[in-house]
Amino acid sequence: MHELTIAGGILDVATAALPGVPEPVPRVSKVTVRIGRLTNVVPESLRYHFQLLTTGTSFEGAALDIVRVPIRGSCSDCASCFEIDTPSFGCPRCGSGFVRILSGRELEVVSLETVEDAPVHRQEACNGD
Ligand SMILES: [Zn+2]
Repeated sequence: MHELTIAGGILDVATAALPGVPEPVPRVSKVTVRIGRLTNVVPESLRYHFQLLTTGTSFEGAALDIVRVPIRGSCSDCASCFEIDTPSFGCPRCGSGFVRILSGRELEVVSLETVEDAPVHRQEACNGD
């Protein structure tokens, strides 16, 4: 359910970002999103749901380019900044548990690419990387 909700949100944002041009709305070839690791989004699942939701829309066949944003934190005790890649969120330098999360919660649509004046041939997206 998590990924389905997120895929719907991405599609909402992406649709709103499409230029208000008359029909036919340009076909979208690629949607790039930034997703922080703290969101626990599974890319494969997100692509799958995105593909389901876009069937029959301008986004049908569009590739979903997922940029994973690492979790970064800063220590409130020693002020060092570091990437968090372990189940423990403690400071690797001084061991403090007072860590502020700087990034990793991102969930945003970065860009859209549309197909313009391109021959109409369906690109099969979501075949994996
Ligand atoms: Zn520290």
